[in-house]
Amino acid sequence: MERENAWKKYPKGAKRNKLMKFAEGYRQFLSDCKTERECTTFFIAEAKKAGYQDLAELIKKNKKLKAGDKVYMSNRGKGLAMFVIGKEPLENGLNILGAHIDSPRMDLKQNPLYEDTEMVLLDTHYYGGIKKYQWVTLPLALHGVIVKKDGKKIDVAIGDKDDDPVFGVTDLLIHLAATQLEKKGNKVVEREALNVLIGSIPLEKATKGKKDGEETKEKVKAGILEILKSTYGIEEEDFLSAEIEVVPAGPARDFGFDRSMIMGYGHDDRVCAYPSFYAMLEVPAPKRTTACLLVDKEEIGSVGATGMESRFFENMVAEIANLTGDYSELTVRRCLTNSKALSSDVSAAFDPNYPDVMEKKNSCYFGKGMVFNKYTGARGKSGSNDASAEYMGELRGIMDSDDVSYQTAELGKVDQGGGGTIAYILGNYSMLVIDSGVPVLNMHAPWEIISKLDLYEAFRGYVSFLKKA
Ligand code: MN
Ligand code: MN
Repeated sequence: MERENAWKKYPKGAKRNKLMKFAEGYRQFLSDCKTERECTTFFIAEAKKAGYQDLAELIKKNKKLKAGDKVYMSNRGKGLAMFVIGKEPLENGLNILGAHIDSPRMDLKQNPLYEDTEMVLLDTHYYGGIKKYQWVTLPLALHGVIVKKDGKKIDVAIGDKDDDPVFGVTDLLIHLAATQLEKKGNKVVEREALNVLIGSIPLEKATKGKKDGEETKEKVKAGILEILKSTYGIEEEDFLSAEIEVVPAGPARDFGFDRSMIMGYGHDDRVCAYPSFYAMLEVPAPKRTTACLLVDKEEIGSVGATGMESRFFENMVAEIANLTGDYSELTVRRCLTNSKALSSDVSAAFDPNYPDVMEKKNSCYFGKGMVFNKYTGARGKSGSNDASAEYMGELRGIMDSDDVSYQTAELGKVDQGGGGTIAYILGNYSMLVIDSGVPVLNMHAPWEIISKLDLYEAFRGYVSFLKKA
């Protein structure tokens, strides 16, 4: 059974333009927001514009909520939950859109700065699953925060403006790479070789506190520290309380002669987060209460205070119950159990260059719409949520009722590999949940590719889900 190419639904003209306009908004978002913090800041600003109120403020004032009220809550600036209060009682459950906003990258180590042969480098620890050899010889940018001892937070974003410098990890020249190229792929570039080059001019004068003539050691590092001090007001020790992410520099770009695709950093999983967020704005008066959950730390197992495993979401549901005047432990439990969720994450698009790892009947393709993965997992579906046939049946009905193009897929051939999502964590509440999302090529590479059509159909699918599930 083959699914149709859905571009047919969008002939040149108004329909195509609407799709392209939505994709252009996404392309700009992806260019501007390269960390979970930047995504959170962007989404909260957009939510406020759309009339969402800060749940933290409402809790303080004990302000009651009623049907149609819209609220958001930041999870420590690295994720957020949004709710629109529905007409039905909370214990009937929520319609939830979940996605993650962290992406694979390199993080600076806590003590990153060093000088070697009069060059200054930053040592990194990679985050999430990456092929290390893909991250060398690329222009890279530094995004994140540095927090001083007194709590003052300094935002860092350098490498993405036109006149910014960029940074990067060097690779061995081909002329001397005979030994390197005999290594296995996962050893070609070693983990500890992911060091970012950031400077090479020695400091002219002795540093402060040194007498003239007294030698400053590591003069190039001293020169960089002087720049960091004058630009950001920071000392070397401030890296101890910093979160700096090394990400590909430059904007997301239209891809292909027909501009049908977008190449950018962090499609996984911002290509699901963005349409999930805007679907919420599209449904201001839902029957059931709706929620959008954009989480951090998915790429490293959904752990920690800002990952899906934390109690954040459950706590927020309890707060919502309290402010709608309906709080009891039982209400919260019933609400979670009776909820329905689309756990949205990217799926591996069929790649004609690598057909061997895919099973064609059960792969997803560019241009055929949003993807449902009944199950993920590896080695006999291990680790998978495996959505019920009943739920999948309901979703087929909803998608077809609004002519949303969708396809179904597994992540590659049986036992070829695998990957996790946040679906099973929502499944722990015994709610209905299925993995869904958008096909991606180059997943986890510095520059990933998606189809604008699939992005738009995901958006339309999420809207239908919020309204009709
Ligand atoms: Mn993902
Ligand atoms: Mn991923």
